[in-house]
Amino acid sequence: MCAHRLVRLSDSYWSKRRRIQASVQSHIADLQSHDVTDDAIDNIIHPHDGTSPAEPDISSSINSPDVCSSSEGLTNTLLSSTELQSFQTGENDLNGSFIEANNVYEGENDNVDNHTVDCDDADFDTWSKCGSSESDESIDFEECDYKHSDEMLEADLHKWADNFNISRVALGSLLQILHPYHPRLPVDSRTLLHTPRSATISNVAGGVYHYIGIQSRLERLHQSGLLKVTNNMCIRMQVNIDGLPLFKSSGMQLWPILGCIKEPDLKLSEPFVIGIFAGLVKPKSLAEYLSDFVAEATNLHKYGLQLSDGVVFVRLHSIVCDAPARSFLKNIKSFTGYHGCERCIQRGKYYCSRMTFPDTDSTLRTDDSFINMADEDHHLNDVHSPLAQLSIGMVTGFVLDYMHLVCLGVVRRLLLLWLRGPLPLRLSARAVSHLSQKLLSLRSCTPCEFSRKPRSVVDIDRWKATEFRQFLLFTGPLVLRSILPQELYSNFLLLHAAIFCLVHPRYCTQYCDFARKLLIKFVQHCHHAYGQQFVVYNVHSLVHFPDDVQFFGPLDGISCFPFENFLHSVKRLVRSPYLPLQQVVNRVYERHCHLLTAKQCSDSPVLKHMLHTHSNTDNAVFYMCVETKQYTLRTRDCDNCVCLKDDKFGRIQYIMQKADEIILVIHVYETVTTFYSYPLDSQNLGIVCLKNLSPSNCTYLLADVKHKCMCMPMTDDYDSFLAVPLSI
Ligand SMILES: [Zn+2]
Repeated sequence: MCAHRLVRLSDSYWSKRRRIQASVQSHIADLQSHDVTDDAIDNIIHPHDGTSPAEPDISSSINSPDVCSSSEGLTNTLLSSTELQSFQTGENDLNGSFIEANNVYEGENDNVDNHTVDCDDADFDTWSKCGSSESDESIDFEECDYKHSDEMLEADLHKWADNFNISRVALGSLLQILHPYHPRLPVDSRTLLHTPRSATISNVAGGVYHYIGIQSRLERLHQSGLLKVTNNMCIRMQVNIDGLPLFKSSGMQLWPILGCIKEPDLKLSEPFVIGIFAGLVKPKSLAEYLSDFVAEATNLHKYGLQLSDGVVFVRLHSIVCDAPARSFLKNIKSFTGYHGCERCIQRGKYYCSRMTFPDTDSTLRTDDSFINMADEDHHLNDVHSPLAQLSIGMVTGFVLDYMHLVCLGVVRRLLLLWLRGPLPLRLSARAVSHLSQKLLSLRSCTPCEFSRKPRSVVDIDRWKATEFRQFLLFTGPLVLRSILPQELYSNFLLLHAAIFCLVHPRYCTQYCDFARKLLIKFVQHCHHAYGQQFVVYNVHSLVHFPDDVQFFGPLDGISCFPFENFLHSVKRLVRSPYLPLQQVVNRVYERHCHLLTAKQCSDSPVLKHMLHTHSNTDNAVFYMCVETKQYTLRTRDCDNCVCLKDDKFGRIQYIMQKADEIILVIHVYETVTTFYSYPLDSQNLGIVCLKNLSPSNCTYLLADVKHKCMCMPMTDDYDSFLAVPLSI
């Protein structure tokens, strides 16, 4: 054993690491071949909705481009061989940051994890080392020993188990297998994952509840370097509260209180859990449910939080929820009630078994009129919601979420009318089939920023919010053009153009008032075209959207999309019906153990998939992909259409790095025309028809790209294309 150890100690660090990784992979393969991991494999979490794992085909025989003049001021500095070799493509680690488990509760224990363990073995001190182990450059190779390797292995196993949602049973079994080879590794999954030994679970509002808090998150963000603090700075936090049904077979549901830092911009700001409630019904008492949150938010607002670099104060940015959750949190009448509109005082009209709000110019509610209960019929009783104590407007602070109201509301309603509505409105079977074919034909040109590709309308009942969003903003105007009657198509364009303006950061300020006029016209025209029964709460609320955009900026910044994605991942943390809250709490604390670093969230573009260095082009290095903070550009057709700052449109042929510049070789389109002229010239929104792609190469810097476009063929012969800018 001693000789064996001596030999091993003389190995290089990388040899050890390779050997360890091979050993782990082998054990994992063994483990995954057993039944015990089946549910683990089935429960793989894809942490980032919207990223495609598929890699482009790499052609080893790509021709050297005929690079024409560097008209955009390119530098011709050669990239030295040392620089070339030192160029690394990075990998972002987007795991949540660490929050210490400092509460006390008798744990979930052993319904899920049936191992007998001594939790006192947990070695929390190793976490600082685990965090630093990711900084490979700083490792002193001579001092590497088994202890260091095992710590790295421990960290890697933790990350692997979290990323793939590996069950505790499967992980424990793997640790048992590894233990003879790596005696320093913990033998129990809870020790490895730093599962809290206990956490406080309270009986609250008819269910059980655990409060994690805002402070611990801010402290961890500060420690990780993501949150740069100056004394007396103000942090603005968005809050989301919504119900999350857990099982089809029971009414068990979670009601998490989620937060998300909006200001300052943390580069990577993902939602986090502030508190979480579990019960068979929603919280019976709003005051009890929100008590801890309101107390802490008030405290952080008044007195701030002392961090090592100064005191920070927390203000609420906005509260983003769906309509039922908003009425629950504001203690007001439901949106199906006569006084259900949260923004104006019009009394709804009950028509054809539904509540409608046909007026578009009623007197608006204000934060003051809400606090004064000027419209008593709007409130459930004379008691204000506990949230009224916070520094947020009870009307203006509760934004109208366009994910639920527009994507899942209005757009879905329109599609269902065309597919299954009254006969005069319904499309023919042939038209529906044509619509589906057109949508399916666009799958191959869907940029990687979209998490889903277009589906047939046969699957309309299974469409997700993001698919309705894609239909409204990108594919709808193209696929509906020859299918819908002109009047209904023009009506759809009103909604499309208005929401496009409000979603796009570049246009939301400039066209906000214009979008308001379009939305009012849309609602009024819907009344005429589809009947009064169509103008329900969702449709009516459209006229109030521009107010939120004026106050908070583009719609994507105040939508439920990021929270919904996060809730989906929370739901997958529950593996069995036994003590679901405890399971979620444990998993949340375990996942907080991953540190984020500012380095991992760099704004710098990242080149990926290097092809070759070509001697005829000044040693430029060619790549297939460059990732920026906003978008990913590739040389393949679905990701290579861009609008440039000189207002030309083109297709990227090559991506190369020369010196420290990233250069794009682009073929530009010679003919750019308008796609629609009603309700405005589509070129004003960057939506254009493209034709006649020039075969000559033009070079641009990456910084010359104005935005990426979704480029869809308009004809079967791929002669002309519709380009729609991505709203990022
Ligand atoms: Zn209203």
